[in-house]
Formats: sequence, structure tokens, C-alpha cells
Amino acid sequence: MIELKDASKAYPNGVHALNHIDLRIDPGEFVYVIGPTGSGKSTLIKLLNGEEVADSGTVTVNGTNVGALKHRKVPKYRRNIGCIFQDYRLLPRLTVYENIAFALEVTGTPSKQIRQRVREVLELVDLKDKERAYPDELSGGQQQRVTIGRAIANRPSILIADEPTGNLDPNMSLEIIELLEKINQTQGTTIVMVTHDRELVDRFRKRTIMLDKGYIVHDSSKGGYKSL
Ligand code: ADP
Ligand code: ADP
Repeated sequence: MIELKDASKAYPNGVHALNHIDLRIDPGEFVYVIGPTGSGKSTLIKLLNGEEVADSGTVTVNGTNVGALKHRKVPKYRRNIGCIFQDYRLLPRLTVYENIAFALEVTGTPSKQIRQRVREVLELVDLKDKERAYPDELSGGQQQRVTIGRAIANRPSILIADEPTGNLDPNMSLEIIELLEKINQTQGTTIVMVTHDRELVDRFRKRTIMLDKGYIVHDSSKGGYKSL
């Protein structure tokens, strides 16, 4: 479970990026976070993955008080949170298979389990036939599917997607949202997706949280821009 209680964050330049945020996201939810540029979406994500610490209030994820984590405990904490971004951030000299395997190697997974898990993940993201390809040989949608595979390889309970369809055409965006829905439904992964994509938000209705100037201005379980 994700819980923010009266969480605020200002940057050293005096910008109040988030103000008195109260928010609870239950395990297995799929939530959109929307709002204009500068409204605090990235800062919210950074509070969740421990990149930034709230100045006041608390951020609790699966029982861990994220702001109170010791530096050396942050990497282990982050294993439970998969992240994907608008730019794919794949390792260009590694194949699809190796990119996913790498995520498992860095967490010390035994090699036999790595082979098994990479096969499962390739199946889930439907890229079995591309395992030997390099990122630059893939379409944007396929590359994003690799990053999703890499992000879920260690079975995180939460997947954070920061504008995952930002660089994709509508058809590929559709593919990505359907894959995220499949992961949400079959793996029970909580999904927090930051997006500007009105079409997706209106078509694939999910709980939708709108930020503006660092405040939650809407939180609608019905979803869609029209219901806000
Ligand atoms: P969004 O993701 O919705 O665009 P951000 O969380 O990136 O919003 O930014 C919220 C506000 O905080 C903006 O005014 C932004 O300029 C400011 N901000 C974000 N990161 C920093 C930073 N590292 N230092 C100073 N100001 C920042
Ligand atoms: P996004 O498009 O994901 O909302 P932004 O363009 O707002 O991202 O910000 C990109 C990065 O720059 C983020 O890591 C954010 O924290 C940082 N950033 C945003 N505004 C500022 C700022 N005024 N000073 C320093 N860093 C900033």
C-alpha cells in the first residue's frame, strides 16, 4: 500500500512542488496521475522511489517509511518498485534478453533462475521472437515493452510509469496500456502511471488523480477527463 499523509516538498529554490498531499493507493490499483507541467507529478514519483524526501508529513510504501530510510537501504527498497520512463533507457549494446537479464543479475539472482525468469518475462511482454535483437533494431513500442519487462523482472509490487506512451503513436500507446493492464491483472502489480495522454485516460478508465500547483485538485475513481 502507498500512503502519503500531509506530505509536502519544496526545493531549495523555494518552489513548493507538493503541498499537504494526502493520498492512499491500495495494492493492485491502477492509477493515473495527470496535471500540467510543473504540477508536481515527477516530485510525487520521486517521493515514492526515495529520490527525494518530503520536508514534512510521511510517505509510507508497503509499511516502509520511505523518508526515514537509511541511504544504504534505499537500493533494496527500490527493488520493490519498477520504473519505466518516456525515454526507454535500455542498454544499447545488450540484446533484449540481456537487458532483462541484467536487471536480475544486479539483484544477485542465481543464473538458472535468471534464464527461467527472462523467458517468463519475454512471454509476458510478447517479445520471445526478439530476444536476440538490439534496442535500435526495435520499434518504439517494442523498446517500451522491453523496459516494462526489465522493470517487472524482479516482481516488484509497484510499477511506476512516467509518461510511458509519451514518445509513441496511438497504436503503440494502445499496446502499452494493454500490456500494463495485463500486468496489473495477472501479476497484481500496483500501477501508478503519469500521463498527458487524454485519449488513453478517457478510453481506459482508471482512478485518476489530478495535480495542479502541487495540490491534488481531483481524485476520481470513475476516471476520464470528462468526470473531473
Ligand atoms: P511535473 O512532473 O508535474 O512537471 P515537477 O514535480 O517536475 O512537476 O515540478 C514541480 C515544480 O517543482 C516545478 O515548478 C518545477 O520547476 C520544480 N522543480 C522540480 N524539480 C526541481 C528541482 N530539482 N529543483 C528545483 N525546482 C524543481
Ligand atoms: P516531466 O516532463 O517528467 O514532468 P520535467 O521536465 O518537469 O519532467 O523535469 C525534468 C527533470 O528536471 C526532473 O527530474 C525535475 O525534477 C527536474 N527539474 C524540473 N524543474 C527544475 C528546476 N527548476 N530546477 C532543477 N531541476 C528541475
